[in-house]
Amino acid sequence: MADNEVSLIERDEIERKEILKKYKSLLRSIRHDLTNEQKKLIRSAFDLALDAHKDMRRKSGEPYIYHPIAVAKIAASEIGLGTTSIVCALIHDVVEDSNYTLLDIKRKFGDKIAKIVDGLTKIQEVFDHTDSMQAENFRKMLLTLSDDVRVILVKLCDRLHNMRTLESMSRKNQLKISSETLFLYAPLAHRLGLYNVKSELEDLAIKYTQRDAYKEISQKLNAKKAARDRYIKKFIEPLRDGLDEAGLVYEIKGRPKSIYSILKKMNHQGIPFEQVYDLFAVRIIVDSKPEKEKADCWTAYSVVTDRYKPNPLRTRDWITTPKSNGYESLHSTVMASDGKWVEVQIRTKRMDEIAEKGYAAHWKYKNSMDGIIQSKSEGVDGWLARVKEVLENPSSNALEFLDDFKLQLIHDEIFVFTPGGDLKKLPVGATALDFAFEIHTEVGNKCIGAKLNNKLVPISHVLTNGDQVEILTSEKQHPKEEWLNSVVTGKAIARIRNYLREHKRIAAEEGKEILKKRFSKEKFTFNDDNVQKIVKFFKIQSQLDLYFNIQKGLISQDKLDIDSILNFKPNVNKLVKPIKVKEKASASGSKNEIIVGEDNDLSYTLSKCCNPIPGDDIFGFITIGEGVKIHRTNCPNAVSLMSNYGYRVIKAQWKENLIKQETKFLAIIKIIGIDDVGVVSSLADIISKNLEVNMKSITIESNEGTFEGTISVYVEDTQHLDLMMKKIQEKHPTMQISRVDINK
Ligand code: MN
Repeated sequence: MADNEVSLIERDEIERKEILKKYKSLLRSIRHDLTNEQKKLIRSAFDLALDAHKDMRRKSGEPYIYHPIAVAKIAASEIGLGTTSIVCALIHDVVEDSNYTLLDIKRKFGDKIAKIVDGLTKIQEVFDHTDSMQAENFRKMLLTLSDDVRVILVKLCDRLHNMRTLESMSRKNQLKISSETLFLYAPLAHRLGLYNVKSELEDLAIKYTQRDAYKEISQKLNAKKAARDRYIKKFIEPLRDGLDEAGLVYEIKGRPKSIYSILKKMNHQGIPFEQVYDLFAVRIIVDSKPEKEKADCWTAYSVVTDRYKPNPLRTRDWITTPKSNGYESLHSTVMASDGKWVEVQIRTKRMDEIAEKGYAAHWKYKNSMDGIIQSKSEGVDGWLARVKEVLENPSSNALEFLDDFKLQLIHDEIFVFTPGGDLKKLPVGATALDFAFEIHTEVGNKCIGAKLNNKLVPISHVLTNGDQVEILTSEKQHPKEEWLNSVVTGKAIARIRNYLREHKRIAAEEGKEILKKRFSKEKFTFNDDNVQKIVKFFKIQSQLDLYFNIQKGLISQDKLDIDSILNFKPNVNKLVKPIKVKEKASASGSKNEIIVGEDNDLSYTLSKCCNPIPGDDIFGFITIGEGVKIHRTNCPNAVSLMSNYGYRVIKAQWKENLIKQETKFLAIIKIIGIDDVGVVSSLADIISKNLEVNMKSITIESNEGTFEGTISVYVEDTQHLDLMMKKIQEKHPTMQISRVDINK
C-alpha cells in the first residue's frame, strides 16, 4: 500500500516535470518575438488547460495536457502560426471536456479567441455526435470555418497530432479517424497549401487503412535508401558547378516522395513498386532578392536543362501563374545520364516556405512583398469566399454539396486562355468541351470542336496548361449521351444531363404519337395496360424509354407488331448474353468465416461492391435492414462510408483457421491487352484447367485492336487470387491484369 502511494507521488512528480519540459519546448519553438503581454496570454492559456484537463488521461495513458501542448507546438513550429492560434490550440479541448464554459473563455481571453474555440468545439461535436447525418454537419462545420480560417488551421494541427498518436486507439476508431482524414482533412490541407501536413496526414491514414501496402512500400523505400542517396549525389554534382558559376546562392537536395503518392501511382497505373520511377524529386532553393526571384529561377532552370535533357511535356511554370492555393514553383522532368527521368523543382526560399507552410506564410510575406509581387493570398481568400457562397446556397443538398466541395478540393488545376487572352482555371483532365461549357451553356451545347493554338482538335481533346482555346460551334449541333464520357467538370456534366433529359422528354412525346397511330391502325385500345405489356415485351425500363426508343428508331417499326405482342406471340430474338462458363453456387456469407465486432456469431454478408476475400483488410458496416455488410478497407466506397457514417462501422476480421476449399469467394479481375482470336479460350484454359478455379463469367469487349475483359472467379483467398493472376501474366506477359476494386 505504502509502496503504491510513493510510486504514485513519484509518477506525479515525473509527469509534472515532463509537462513543464514540453511547455518550455513549445515556447522555444515560437519563432516570432513575443511581447510581455503575449507571453502572459500563452501562459494563462497553458494554466487554464492544465487545470481543465488535470484528471484526464489519453488512451495511451499519458496525461491529457500532452495533447494540447503538442497541438500548439505543431501550430507554432510546423505551420508558423501566431499567438492567437497558439492560445486557441492550448485550450481547444477545454470547453468540450471540462466544466469551463465558452463564457469563461470569453471573459479571460476576449471575443476573438472565444469565437475560434467555439468553432473548434463545434467541429468536435460534429464528429463525436454520431447519430446524425454527417454530411449536413460537414456543411455546418465548413460554414463556421470560413469565418476565421484559423479554426481550420488549428483543427488541422489537432488532427495531425491525433493521427501521429493513433496507434493506441481501437481498430474501429483507427479506421474511422483515418477515413475522415483522407476524406476531408488531407484535401483541406492541400487546398490551403499545407503540403507537408497534407502528405503526412495521407501517409498516416493509409498506414491504418491499407496496412499491407503501406508496410511494403516503406520497407522497400528503406531498403533502397543508400543506393538512392548515391544516385542523387551523382545527379546533383554537375548542377552545383553550373549554379556556382551562375553566381547563385542556393540549397539543393533530393526529396523522397510520400508513400501515399507512390501507392497512388502504383494503383493508378497498375504497376508494381519496382516500376515507379520517380521515388524522389530534386529541389533547388535559391536565395533571391524579391525583384530577382523569377530571373534567378529561370537561370537555375537553364543550368539544369543545359546539363540534362528536359521532357518538354513536363515543364510546369507556377511562378508566372501560381496555383490558386498560392503554390509557386518551376518544375521540370529531365533525363539523367542513365536514361531515367528525374523531376527537378526550382523555387526561391520565400516560395519554399509558402509551399511547405501554406496559408500562414502568405501573411508573413504579404506586406514585405507588396508592390513587388501581387498578393498571392488572393487565391485562398477567393477560395474561402467561394466555399462560403456554396455553403449559404440553401438549394444544394448536403451530400451533393460535399461532392462539389470535394471536387473543388482534390482537383489540381490547369490554366488555359480564351482567344481574347482571358485566363480560365479548369481541373486537370478537362477537355475542350469542358472549356466550352465553362464559357457558356449555349457554346457548350453547340460545340463541334476547338482550335487549339491554331490546330483543330476534337471536343474530347484534353487541355494542358497554357493552351489557348477557340471553340468552334454549329447551329446543327446538340449534346449527346457520349459527351458525358468527354467531360470532367461538374458544370459540363450537369448541363449535358439537363439537355438530354429535356430532349428525351420531347422525343418521347413524338414516340408516343407514333405508337398511338400504330395502335389505331391495328385496332387496339391505347391504354396503360396495353402499353405496359409492350414495355415488358421489349424488356425496357419505363414507358418513357419505350416512346423514346420508338422515336429514335431503336425499336424499328416492323418489330412493333402490336397484334402479336399483345397476344403473346414472341417474334424477337433474344440478345446475346455474355459467355457463361461454369457456375458454382457458393456465393458468400453463410458460413462463419468472419468475426464481426467482438461477437462470433453476428450474421453478415459480403458486400457486392468490392467482394472481399480472405486476406483482404476488412470492416463491417451496419446497414438498414440488411444486417452487417463486409467491405474491403480499400473499397472505393469505404472512405465515404466510414467518414460519413462512422458510428455504423464495426470491426471485422477473417478467422485465422479458415477451412480451405469449403467456401470459395467471388473475385473480379480486369484484363487489358492486344486483341487476339484465341484470347478467351486461352484464359479459360489457364484458369479452369491448370488452376482448377471455377469461373463464374467472362466477358470480353474489343475495340480497335485492343480488348478489355472482366473475369469473375471463385477463389480461396488473396494468395490464391495472386497465384492465378501471376499464372495469367506468365502466359501473357503483355497483358495488364488487375483486381477490380469495385464492381460497377
Ligand atoms: Mn484535440
